[in-house]
Amino acid sequence: MTWNKQTTIALFGTGLMGAPLTERLLDAGYKVVVWNRSPEKLEPLVAKGALAAETPGQAVRSAEVLVTWLADQRAIQEVLFPAERASLLAGKTILQMATIGPSHSRGLEDAAIAHGAQYLEAPVLGSIPEAKKGSLLLMVGATVAQFERFQLLLSVFGKNPVHVGPVGQAAAMKLAFNQLIAGLTASFSLSLGLIQKEGVRVELFMDMLRDSALYAPTFDKKLLRMLERDYENPNFPTRHLLKDTDLFLDAADEHGLTAACLQGVRDTVAIALAKGLADTDYSAINEVIHPPIKNQQQGTYPKTD
Ligand code: NAP
Repeated sequence: MTWNKQTTIALFGTGLMGAPLTERLLDAGYKVVVWNRSPEKLEPLVAKGALAAETPGQAVRSAEVLVTWLADQRAIQEVLFPAERASLLAGKTILQMATIGPSHSRGLEDAAIAHGAQYLEAPVLGSIPEAKKGSLLLMVGATVAQFERFQLLLSVFGKNPVHVGPVGQAAAMKLAFNQLIAGLTASFSLSLGLIQKEGVRVELFMDMLRDSALYAPTFDKKLLRMLERDYENPNFPTRHLLKDTDLFLDAADEHGLTAACLQGVRDTVAIALAKGLADTDYSAINEVIHPPIKNQQQGTYPKTD
């Protein structure tokens, strides 16, 4: 298949990530057909030039390249691979960008090939701000030929897409990053909790941490949210962190890795969901690790001496 900016792209799933990335495709001059389970999310994109498909089948028929920004593997399976629509996939290329497990991604590749389609994966590191700017870090699981063919399109989302290896390896790398997100956030919340409980100045703790080998920039990104217990307007919601820790645990199990430490974090994230924090920023796991005590004043940051 040869294609260029006149090729129609269908994008499935115009949620937190799919919507800004549709806008980037439109701004770059691509013809984009969008489909979303909740059709009201399509309206702002149609206003910017996207064409709305009423059904997934209509979107599949209208495009050569099918980009998936759906929540998980089950949603992709339901939207692209139901028996009655499977024949529509012949000759299309599926570009899967959501976070799913390596074995799920390989399974989707097998299903795509069985239906005469091509499949590649390009999960990303970064969130809504990076999606809007086109500065996502892209990990690509594909053949060399597919990677070369899709570089132009992928560069709309991030400047330097990296070819990791065959399908499954980019999905694995993405999970490796996301278990770090889970672990680092939980660890930071726990340390910050002790600092606050003991009345140590948070600013002093942060200054020493920033000078140390233990520092990760994500700590500063989440510090104020945790101190102010403000988890609104998420870029990455807690429910997706649970999905990704579960995906990592499955992969660890498959490979005989001991992931007891991540299991503890996973259970913490699950409690956050049970507390009604599914749609908040994932740093809300702080509410489980360091719950507020009624009438107790929180945080001493950024006061100085
Ligand atoms: P989101 O806002 O929750 O969007 C999920 C999308 O999937 C929505 O369009 C939703 O439709 C659709 N969906 C869910 N279940 C479905 C089903 N059974 N059938 C059809 N459609 C279904 O999530 P997001 O943040 O954009 O994330 C999408 C994917 O990218 C996830 O795998 C996530 O882990 C990954 N990701 C997210 C970020 C981030 O920072 N947010 C970064 C990197 C990767 P409705 O609108 O109808 O609910």
